[in-house]
Amino acid sequence: MNNTTNNFDKDHIWHPYTSMKDPLPCYKVKSCSGVYIELEDSKKLIDGMSSWWCAVHGYNHPVLNKAINDQVTRMSHIMFGGLTHDPAINAAKSVLDLLPEKFDCLFFADSGSVAVEVSLKMALQYWQNSSNTEKKEFVTIRGGYHGDTTGAMSVTDPDNGMHHLFKDFLPIHNFISRPETRFGEILQPQDTKELNEFFKKKHKTLAAVILEPIVQGAGGMWFYSSDYLVKLRELCDKYNTLLIFDEIATGFGRTGKLFAFEHAAVTPDILCIGKAITGGYMTLAATITSQKIAEQIGTLMHGPTFMGNPLATAVASASIKLLTNSNWQERVNVIECILRKNLLPVLASPLVEDVRVLGAIGVIETKHPVKIKEIQKFFIDNGVWIRPFGKLIYIMPPFIITPPQLQILCSVLIQSIQLKHFER
Ligand code: PMP
Repeated sequence: MNNTTNNFDKDHIWHPYTSMKDPLPCYKVKSCSGVYIELEDSKKLIDGMSSWWCAVHGYNHPVLNKAINDQVTRMSHIMFGGLTHDPAINAAKSVLDLLPEKFDCLFFADSGSVAVEVSLKMALQYWQNSSNTEKKEFVTIRGGYHGDTTGAMSVTDPDNGMHHLFKDFLPIHNFISRPETRFGEILQPQDTKELNEFFKKKHKTLAAVILEPIVQGAGGMWFYSSDYLVKLRELCDKYNTLLIFDEIATGFGRTGKLFAFEHAAVTPDILCIGKAITGGYMTLAATITSQKIAEQIGTLMHGPTFMGNPLATAVASASIKLLTNSNWQERVNVIECILRKNLLPVLASPLVEDVRVLGAIGVIETKHPVKIKEIQKFFIDNGVWIRPFGKLIYIMPPFIITPPQLQILCSVLIQSIQLKHFER
């Protein structure tokens, strides 16, 4: 049976970032369990993507299944305006317990992009309710990605992102170079220089800085020096500007720390989390700040229909408990060691530009863009699920992956490079 033939899907359903006209093939999934994705023809693939950073515990987990099944018999949804419930209260408590003390006010959003929109609104309302009403602009670093809604797009890299399509509609914000100093290295002077100059010139109108701490995800899978965050915190304090960290991809252990900002030992004023919050079971995200900032924001003008959804929040509490009661740190360390051992030698290949490993993330940046249809078929034929984009072939497996399973993922990844599935 051919896993890719589903004409209804092809003719009627949009997939992420694709055209309805001659779309790339999509493989039909029958079920998932543990680290395996089972296709229509019963072929099993080792998952290298955690469904885009989410499924840290793997799929079909009995504890998470139970949490959601138990909740569905009580109440699957109820509006959050004027009503509240234990699943939301418990999930908020579980999240706040993981964070430094200053974080004590949480807004449940229904996706990462919405959490980012809320963070931008929080920052704008904060300044509108102060004597600094001219603070209305945002700045971010190039190569970032914060989601696909309009506000999130406006602070996403203008070249990699969708700015060229929507340039007449997006608010104009500020973009500065991404830090070139790599993770683990001491910040180079050129990275500080642009920041200093920018703040000096723009601080009067600057509401907030927004960026992904340590790991830039969909904008280029770049890992930068933690010193940069320390410097940013200093400048935000000096120039009275809010600092927003988007930990939607990095939160819940992926980089080897529970949150990536822990690598720098600095905290933001506003934090966005999502993705792995429910272990990949339901869509849920949150925007979190301090009581002090919340008080100045006043009435926050946002309220999604599915805010605080009981199924999503019930499974979030269960997922957080599962994570914190597990030896996730040890597992991520083991994954990191295996990724380093297998992927770093690939740097010697003339086809490879760079190799980066941090926590449970391994990235091979190639010299030429991959031929996605061809390489995808190669991965499927060899029993793994890896979804590259552009010049980036990367893996971020569920934390439950075993060393032999990870070894297979790595060796198929390396073979794919040797087989040269590249555009030239
Ligand atoms: N911020 C970051 C850092 C992300 O990686 C993503 C998702 N790729 C988002 C925001 C948007 O999240 P969502 O797709 O849930 O809207």
